Amino acid sequence: MNTVDRTEFERDGAAEQLAALHGLLQLDAAGQLQHCPVMLTPAPLRADTFAELEALTPLYSTLAHRVASSGAFLIDALSGVAESDAYIEFLLGLARERHDAAPARLSITRSDYFTSADGRLLRQVELNTIAASYLGLGGRVADFHNAWATRTGASWRARLNAPTVGVADAFEAALAAYGVPSGRVLFVVLPGERNIVDQRLLELELAARGINVLRRTFDELGEQARLHGGELFLGDERIAVTYLRAGLLAADLASESARRGWRTIARSSTIAAPDIPLMLAGTKKVQQLLTDRRVLSRFLPPEDATRVARSFALLAAPDDPITIDGREQLALDAALERPDRFVLKPQREGGGNNLYDHELTRALRSMSRAERSAYILMERLEPPARPAVGLRAGAMWRGEVVSEFGHYGALLTRGERIVLNRGVGYLVRTKAVDAREGGICSGAGHLDSVEA
Ligand code: ADP
Ligand code: MG
Repeated sequence: MNTVDRTEFERDGAAEQLAALHGLLQLDAAGQLQHCPVMLTPAPLRADTFAELEALTPLYSTLAHRVASSGAFLIDALSGVAESDAYIEFLLGLARERHDAAPARLSITRSDYFTSADGRLLRQVELNTIAASYLGLGGRVADFHNAWATRTGASWRARLNAPTVGVADAFEAALAAYGVPSGRVLFVVLPGERNIVDQRLLELELAARGINVLRRTFDELGEQARLHGGELFLGDERIAVTYLRAGLLAADLASESARRGWRTIARSSTIAAPDIPLMLAGTKKVQQLLTDRRVLSRFLPPEDATRVARSFALLAAPDDPITIDGREQLALDAALERPDRFVLKPQREGGGNNLYDHELTRALRSMSRAERSAYILMERLEPPARPAVGLRAGAMWRGEVVSEFGHYGALLTRGERIVLNRGVGYLVRTKAVDAREGGICSGAGHLDSVEA
């Protein structure tokens, strides 16, 4: 990664200021607002691949909803993981408690992909069914890019994007579905959240519709949340819709009061985005199981299953047989033979957990069969690299980068009926080609847009 000679662009910090003006901000470790790492050039994506990105979203939303509605499948899929993962065990316990199908479900998801080297195919990295972030900030990048393009005389333009609008529509529909005019929206947040502006941008979109949001941490909910007649209350406020921007990590539920907070939500009639089954439907273990066509066919009709399956990368449990280069062998043996072709993933979310190369080898060699069963092996994806210019901590840099493309989905169901199922916008995260994790706060990622 080379620092760019700033004279080539601007000497006066215009890029940083423009980024701030477009709301591309996050808190740094000292609690100060800073611009987010952001690219200064959009990511190229073929129009037909972008169309496929959009087309897959309602299918993935339906798939996750149907998996979430199949308690027996989830329990079967995750019981093994729960044995070695106390967090999954806690969530599975809560899922087991509720035998009634959720009367309404609100799902705000983001499906992430890399493209194949030629940019023609999408390969799913993962489906995020809980706390999918950057729907606020991600929607501001295109406007920033277009302003920057004008200023620098660039000929490209960015594809406009506004995920918060579609998500706010879904919140409005969920409030109506709950059916109590005084019902409120609660955001469950992390203490000391650094990605706060991202959430505020959604709050702004809701405020424009006259919807005011309450914010609480799980710990606060453990102390304050009450059930009255099955409904969730904070003091006198009845909570119709609960949106989780926390709960992704076991650490978020470390204290007994935090766990009590989620238990109260789970036992109430609030429309939680996500509810616990939907969160579990987004686990990496479930993602792996769904790559088996017989399993997938339980949840999607043949045409939809075929389309979704086209976006699957090779995924397997370490002790499953796979066929690679025409040879059948255990995934474990294939990965030990060629660790550079795989990623080993534990059932953890939130970045920084994946194992590569010698770490992968060491982990696979040291684990018992039971320990291995809590991990999945995934084919290592090799997206196309391109030169680009980025801005991080006030400094411009130029280097070879790769982009991960995400697409947000909003789904609302009432009983068996799907009330709303839409793709609502995209996210691009771009990182230097040699960086592994593309998180904006947690990794080496930069916010980006799609070139129009
Ligand atoms: P998390 O829940 O931590 O976000 P992900 O599966 O999204 O887990 O992995 C984190 C990051 O690791 C991704 O954003 C991507 O940059 C990289 N990554 C994940 N899976 C692969 C893969 N199969 N090949 C190459 N890189 C991957
Ligand atoms: Mg991810």
